[in-house]
Amino acid sequence: MEPGKAFHVVVVGAGIVGASIAYHLTQRHAAVTVLERHQPGTGASSHSFAWLNAFGKEPYGYHELNRRSMDIWHRFARDIQLGEGVHWGGEMRWVHTEADAAALRQRIQQLQSWGYPNRLISVDELQRLEPGIVTGEVRAASLGPIDGHVEAHKVIAACLRRAQARGAVVHTETAVQGLRLQHNGSTARRVHAVQTTQGEILCDAVVLAAGTETTALAAMAGLHIPQEDSPGVVVRTDPRPRLLQSVSVLYMPPIDATRPDIHLRQLADGSVQIGEGSQESLARDDSQAHADALLTRATHYLPALAGARAIPVPVGYRPMPHDGFPVLGFPEPVPNLYLALMHSGVTLAPLVGELAAMEIVDGARVQSLAAYRPERFL
Ligand SMILES: Cc1cc2nc3c(=O)[nH]c(=O)nc-3n(C[C@H](O)[C@H](O)[C@H](O)COP(=O)(O)OP(=O)(O)OC[C@H]3O[C@@H](n4cnc5c(N)ncnc54)[C@H](O)[C@@H]3O)c2cc1C
Repeated sequence: MEPGKAFHVVVVGAGIVGASIAYHLTQRHAAVTVLERHQPGTGASSHSFAWLNAFGKEPYGYHELNRRSMDIWHRFARDIQLGEGVHWGGEMRWVHTEADAAALRQRIQQLQSWGYPNRLISVDELQRLEPGIVTGEVRAASLGPIDGHVEAHKVIAACLRRAQARGAVVHTETAVQGLRLQHNGSTARRVHAVQTTQGEILCDAVVLAAGTETTALAAMAGLHIPQEDSPGVVVRTDPRPRLLQSVSVLYMPPIDATRPDIHLRQLADGSVQIGEGSQESLARDDSQAHADALLTRATHYLPALAGARAIPVPVGYRPMPHDGFPVLGFPEPVPNLYLALMHSGVTLAPLVGELAAMEIVDGARVQSLAAYRPERFL
C-alpha cells in the first residue's frame, strides 16, 4: 500500500453480513467498495426469519459467540440508526406432549447453566403475556426474554447508508466474475484486483460475504470451502393489526403429526411472517397451498389472524458451511482474502462486523474466532 493512501477493501456481497462488515470497516477509516450483483439484501437475508437468538446453538463456544452478538445488537442498532427495524420483547413457546416438555425443560436447564436467561413459565404467565393465544393443553412453556427479531433489509440499508456517509462506494448490479492473483515468490498468493461485470477494481484486501456464492468465489482463489444445500421457506401475510402484546417471536407446537410446529413474527408494516420447524429446517414448498396451510395453522393458535391473506415467498437458501459453523478469517494460502460465510448471520452480523474489521484493518487475530478459521477445510 502507498504511504498516506487509505487501505482499500472490496466487500463482495451486500447481504446483512457484508453490509455490517462494510459499515465497521468505514468506522476504522478503511476505504471501502461494496460490490453487489443484484440489489442489497436480495440473498438469504431477504428470506430470513431473522430471529436474534442463541437458543439452539451448541456447543458452548458457538452459543457464546451468538450470545456476544446478541449483547451488542442494541448498540449496533443505535449506531446504525436502525429505528423501527428491530423488535425486542423475547421469544415464547409451549409444547403439548410429555416428550417435548422433557426436551424443553432440558434445553432451558442447559441454557441457564450457560447463563442465558430463558426460563420456564406457567400457563397463567403465558396467557398474561399474550392473552390472544389459544394454546390447547400446555405441558411446558418457556420465555427467552432477551431475544428479538429484525427486518434484515432495513439493517442492510442502514449499514450501507452509514458506510456511504463515511465515503464507501456501493456498486449494485455488479457481479464479481474473477479475482486477479499475484504470487509473492512463496506459495502464498494475494488478490491484486477484483474482476467484475463493470471492469476491474484494484484492492488491498477483499472480503467474500457472498452467502451461498462464497464457495464458487473462493474456488477462483483455489480455496475449497464446502457448503450444504439448505433451502428454507418463510411465508408472509398482508398487513394485520398488532397481534402480539409482549413477546416478539412465537414458537407454536405441532397440531398433529401432519401439521408440525411453526414460528411467527410481525413486522413494523403489520405483515406477519410464518416459518415451519426450526431455524435450520429444510423446506422447498413455496406454493400458495403451503402458504395457506401455514397460515391456517397459525390461526388455530391466534384466532385474530382470521381473514388474513397468505402470500407465498420463493424458497431461500441459507449460506451453510459444511459443518454448520461460521467460516471467518484470512486463509493462509491467500492472506488478503477474508472469508465471511455463515448461517445465523442475522444474529451474528454485529459481532462479525466488529471483529472482522479489527482483523482486516488492524491485523488482530481474535481468539474467540479460532474455531471458525477456513483452514479446517483446506
Ligand atoms: C429461511 C431462512 C430462515 C433463517 N432464519 C434465521 C434466523 O431466524 N436467525 C438468523 O440469525 N439467521 C437466520 N437465517 C440465516 C441468515 O438469514 C443468513 O445467515 C444471513 O442472511 C446471511 O447473510 P449474508 O450477508 O452472509 O448472505 P446473503 O444475504 O445471501 O448475501 C450475499 C449477497 O452476495 C451477493 N452476491 C453473490 N454472489 C455475488 C457475486 N459474484 N458478485 C457480487 N455479489 C454477489 C448476493 O446477491 C447477496 O446479496 C435464515 C435463513 C433462511 C434462508
